[in-house]
Amino acid sequence: CGIVAYIGHREACPIILKGLKRLEYRGYDSAGIALLNGDLKVYKKKGKVSDLENFIGDQATHAHVGMGHTRWATHGEPNDSNAHPHYSTSKRIAIIHNGIIENYAALKTVLQGRGYEFLSDTDSEVFINLIEDIHKNNNCSLEEAVRLALHEVVGAYAIVVLSEDDPGQLIAARKGSPLVIGVGENEFFLASDATPIIEYTNEVIYVNDYEIAVIKDGKLDIQTKEAVRTTPYIQKLELKL
Ligand code: GLU
Repeated sequence: CGIVAYIGHREACPIILKGLKRLEYRGYDSAGIALLNGDLKVYKKKGKVSDLENFIGDQATHAHVGMGHTRWATHGEPNDSNAHPHYSTSKRIAIIHNGIIENYAALKTVLQGRGYEFLSDTDSEVFINLIEDIHKNNNCSLEEAVRLALHEVVGAYAIVVLSEDDPGQLIAARKGSPLVIGVGENEFFLASDATPIIEYTNEVIYVNDYEIAVIKDGKLDIQTKEAVRTTPYIQKLELKL
């Protein structure tokens, strides 16, 4: 029930794991992380963030881009394969998702008919395969595919999407579930609330419903799902940990 993501010059993995612990109060049954360093690696586990840490152990986690998730199961029991992040069928893109996609069953049937494979029982895995399908069929950018996918899904979401083909890029969107961007110096943080962010920066942007945030090559761009560019409002937090 929480998300954290990082893109910048620091090691992503420790920042994300620490951030997930700060969100532990929200409650969860599983945790996972995706790290992008050439290839897109996913580690996920039922249980606590500390179980995920033990599972990662001393495997190489070097990456400057990554995202992490704590899950509160709504579709599919709490287990390792239902934990987030979820890959698309090609395994070139991955998603973390908080919320519920109400029309996932109908979308899943269509996607299965087109050859998409599902390794979990979650609604979230449907979301990432929908994005992949739109990306392929429209021959558009991933950012555009995410935007178009928001027109197909019904429900609530805060999502982050990473792609092996765009290593310097983080895409996020929300409707209903909270999402905050932390703006640092040549680095960005994303989280469900500001608690994982404030030790690094007090400049935050609260993403609005139906907005898509794209962080690419050190720049942040926000647009609505109607493709209207918006000017992000940066708030200064006085909060101290
Ligand atoms: N509906 C998704 C699932 O069951 C996300 C749940 C959440 O918000 O953690 O996996």
